[in-house]
Amino acid sequence: MAVKPDPVFTKLTKVLSALKETASEDKSAEAAARELKEDFKRENGGAPLTDGQRQAVRRTKIRAERETKRKKHVRRCVACGAQLPVSARADTKTCSDACRQKVSRNR
Ligand SMILES: [Zn+2]
Repeated sequence: MAVKPDPVFTKLTKVLSALKETASEDKSAEAAARELKEDFKRENGGAPLTDGQRQAVRRTKIRAERETKRKKHVRRCVACGAQLPVSARADTKTCSDACRQKVSRNR
């Protein structure tokens, strides 16, 4: 028996990957979720959203919000103010060993 793909899930996957591709932040999480909701409404012919569809809308919003937050969250070196790499550890406060030493010397 072939597994029938869930149309709601298929759409959700599509929307989420589209969000990832749009590097710009001008499309807010709210807008993305609203668009998906309208899309579902059209598909339903004006009928209320099913539980699955509602969940998809919510997940889109949460995911998009998280993406936006991640993009905006830029940490800076406490010594020179240079932007820290995204890969920097959570407890990293400086961009280099030199800056780290500078900070510890000033204490
Ligand atoms: Zn630095």
